[in-house]
Amino acid sequence: MSKELLIKNGMIVTGDKRGTVIQKGYVWVNGSRITEVSEGEAKFTADTVIDAAGCIVIPGLITAHTHLYGILLRGASLNIKPPTDFAQVLQRVWWPVDEALTQEDAYASALSAGADMLRNGSTLFADTYSGPNSIEGSLNEIARGTKEVGIRGILAFEMTERNNADEANRGFQEGIKFIKSCKKDDLVSGMISLHASFTVGDEIVTRAVEEARQLDVPITVHTSEGLVDLYHNLEATGERTVERLDRLDVLGPKTVLAHCVHVNDHELDLISKRRASVAHNPMSNMLNAVGVAPVPAMLSKGITVGLGNDGWIYDPFENMRCALTIHRLASRNPSIIGPEEIFKMATIEGAHCYGLGTELGSIEKRKLADIVILDGTRVPTPLTPDSIVGHLVNTFGGRDVRDVVVDGRVVVKDRLLTQTSDLHVSETSIKSARELWSRLQQHER
Ligand SMILES: [Zn+2]
Repeated sequence: MSKELLIKNGMIVTGDKRGTVIQKGYVWVNGSRITEVSEGEAKFTADTVIDAAGCIVIPGLITAHTHLYGILLRGASLNIKPPTDFAQVLQRVWWPVDEALTQEDAYASALSAGADMLRNGSTLFADTYSGPNSIEGSLNEIARGTKEVGIRGILAFEMTERNNADEANRGFQEGIKFIKSCKKDDLVSGMISLHASFTVGDEIVTRAVEEARQLDVPITVHTSEGLVDLYHNLEATGERTVERLDRLDVLGPKTVLAHCVHVNDHELDLISKRRASVAHNPMSNMLNAVGVAPVPAMLSKGITVGLGNDGWIYDPFENMRCALTIHRLASRNPSIIGPEEIFKMATIEGAHCYGLGTELGSIEKRKLADIVILDGTRVPTPLTPDSIVGHLVNTFGGRDVRDVVVDGRVVVKDRLLTQTSDLHVSETSIKSARELWSRLQQHER
């Protein structure tokens, strides 16, 4: 018999289509699925009971785009000439790091970034890994770290021809092998990832699309994150980035375009028409000074927009808050976007990006039980069903996450990991980061 879990006495923000909030109720979970969501007192007890009195119960937050290995760069002092544009950020920071990555780093960063996201309320991430000198087997190592902490992950090897075609081909093979190997896994699955339009030729793009469609998995690509992508495409083909991707049949319902900062109205119309989606990464866009993605225009055209961290700040609440403020600042219109839209981006819309809207993204009967319980005792004003979504975006933070359930299993309890130890995670991560930094310094010399 599968295990039962009862979460009782909490305010439940279901995130369903009607935006239902239950002032005081319970969520019943049988095995990995939610079997009942209701108001009032539960009549029976379960194998595991979480008393959520004074707490807010929300759907697990979804990180629609990340790079787990970014966590190993926290605090690294890279001895480089300061970049003055996005192309230089890639050339001086990310690409040397990619080249220095090892299988151990892939594992350690999955463990550490996975734990960081989980403890901050994210229960699913979509990662793309890029390590030209650690291709074969890297996805298994990332899956190992992901499963050890108990978070859900969609994993991919990022194909690029920036060095040579062989590198892209090996990345492609690694991705396909991994996708086939984890078809029935509960926590991890695979997808196809292309680095960016300006680093992949037509042939590899076409092969990637065909394979993604055949395997029925998502395909993701960084899209006009910086002007370098747009200018390269205009110069090489006369097409804007999304126009080129459309010509190559990349756009479809399981296509996730990361960033889309430099896209015009015609490109947005193409994304909308093909029912592709966008992973918005506002904090990363600010960090790299690339510009502001036209998210309000995307939403008005009915484009699905999820929220990512792009390998920088893994707390989804910080990313939500930034998504709320960046568009208000850019438009100088304090009503351009509101907490309801932002909360949806971090939950159900993130699930829709990857074709998982019927399985994840809300607390509803028959869906998979990915649930976050927030301690509401530090909130300085009344928490009511009317104000709660505003509070989730304006007031709460990762520090308020008390318990986390993924696939019906309690993976964070009283702020601590249950599937592995927090100490093991930090020790593994620190060792890996120390060695990575040392390799990077040797490279600089
Ligand atoms: Zn990215």
